Order: sequence, then structure tokens, then C-alpha cells
Amino acid sequence: MDILFLEPIFKEMVWGGSCLKNFGFDIPSGKTGECWAVSAHPHGDCAIRNGIYKGWHLSRLWEEHRELFGNMQGDRFPLLVKIIDAKEDLSIQVHPDDAYAREHENGSLGKTECWYVLDCDEDATIIIGHRAKDKEEMKQMIEQKRWTEFLREIPVKKGDFFQIEPGTLHAIKGGTLILETQQNSDITYRVYDYDRMNEGSPRPLHLKQSLDVLKAPYILHTRNNIESPLKAPGITCLESCSCYTVWKIDVSGKTEFEALSPFMILSVVEGFGEINNILIRKGDHFILPSDYGAVTLAGKMKLIASTP
Ligand code: ZN
Repeated sequence: MDILFLEPIFKEMVWGGSCLKNFGFDIPSGKTGECWAVSAHPHGDCAIRNGIYKGWHLSRLWEEHRELFGNMQGDRFPLLVKIIDAKEDLSIQVHPDDAYAREHENGSLGKTECWYVLDCDEDATIIIGHRAKDKEEMKQMIEQKRWTEFLREIPVKKGDFFQIEPGTLHAIKGGTLILETQQNSDITYRVYDYDRMNEGSPRPLHLKQSLDVLKAPYILHTRNNIESPLKAPGITCLESCSCYTVWKIDVSGKTEFEALSPFMILSVVEGFGEINNILIRKGDHFILPSDYGAVTLAGKMKLIASTP
């Protein structure tokens, strides 16, 4: 079976920038915030770029050719991979888990996500977690807008990786370019938007839902220490949870491994080279379908890989 290359979808955002053009993409404007690189979500459903399924949307391939995805169960493609270019700060937000989203968001999935920092300004920071000791103090701090005291803001550098569990307060700040691997969901509750105006009015906040799902106190995430099935020089397992396993692959010369089931997603984030003699370069995103077999990566490049 052929590799499935995907056509990215771009989203313009108030906080977006123009860094995505450095991936060789033809971006719509200087406020391009997101590239949905591998997505079957109704708000952005990527088309296949090559082979016999050229032009098919990923959601249709999932529906009609489930064998490509190892006959995996589920009513929707499980993952979504994005590149986010934050020129300005994103709103401070939280996502629900599956149980809350199923009940309150029309059967949607919850959202667990993780970030690999592709690039950032020297003094860049991000927000992960908060400093309230319990739910009651959290409610007060939010209602009284004690943001500096409340928010846990930490420095960030290129190559950092963060796992964001549902119920964790988080925000990407300006000057950060990240690759996000997430559950296929678009449910976000906005806690605070820096009192900014968007086309004359503030974007809506979701305080009730946020207080429902936000966990307090914040507990620092420690990486789940699951044995990685993908082992080769240059391959680092970044995270493994019930939604996905994510790896960083540094290729310098040649890296060989067996593709994993039920399928693998790969994104080239630096450099260029080949996969089984097919040219690939920074900005390419593709899926290795079920039973793909032996993979040889050659060249000088960095990739982020995931499986459900
Ligand atoms: Zn998020």
C-alpha cells in the first residue's frame, strides 16, 4: 500500500503570523495561525495528495477503507496533527475529557493534546497549570481576575515537549511555533482572553464549563513510562498515553524501523531526505497505512511521528 500524503488546511486566527510559509506552504495571509496537517475533522478535512485515493478526504477514507487503518474501531479518525504559529498570545483555555464532552458537547471526544516546540523567541514562555490550591480558591482567583498570581507561566525553548491532559489550564504565548498532536476534537473552553477585542467585541468566555472541568490543584504531569515499541538510533519516545504515542525521529544518514499498527502519522519538521526512496522535505505530512512494513528514512531531517 502507498504512503498517504496529505494536503494541509490553513486557518486564519487573530493571533496568527506568517512563519508557516517557512514550511514551503502557500499561506492565505500574515495572520495564519494553524496548519491542520493531518485531520479528518469536519472543521478541516484534509485531502489525499497522491496515489489511487488522490482527492479523497481523510474522513471518507476512514469510513470506506478502514482496512488502511488496521480496521480500528471508532466512529471518527482518532488523531489530529496541527502546526500552530502564535505571533500573539492565544487565549487561556482548558479542554474537557471524553466523559464530559460526550455528555455536554453532543457526543464529541474530549481533548488530550501534546506540544513539540519547533521554534520560539529567546524569552518565550507558555502557560501550563495554575497556582490555586483548590477549586474554591481557583474560582475566586478567576472571578477576581488575579491572573498573574493564578497562572503558572514557565519559560520555553526549542525542542521542549509538553503533554496537556484534559482539565489542565494552558496557553501558547506569542513567539512560539509548535507541532500539536491531539485527539480529534475541537472543544475548547476559554477562561481568559487578556480582555482583547476581536472585530469590535471580546471573544466569548466559557466560565461555567471551565470551572466544571478545570482540575485543582494543578499536578505536574510526569511522563507515562510505557515501553516504546519503536526502537532505533535517533528515535525518542516523547509521550505515551491512552490517546496516542508520540516520537521524535532524528535522521542523520539512515534510520530503519518496522512501521507500527494500526497506522503511523509522520511529519517532517526539519530538513529533507527520503522515505523508501520517495523524496520528502520539511512541511510534508503523511500516513503509513496498516501493514506498511519496513521503513528506511535517509537524509538529514527531523520528524515527529505518532500512532493512536
Ligand atoms: Zn488546547
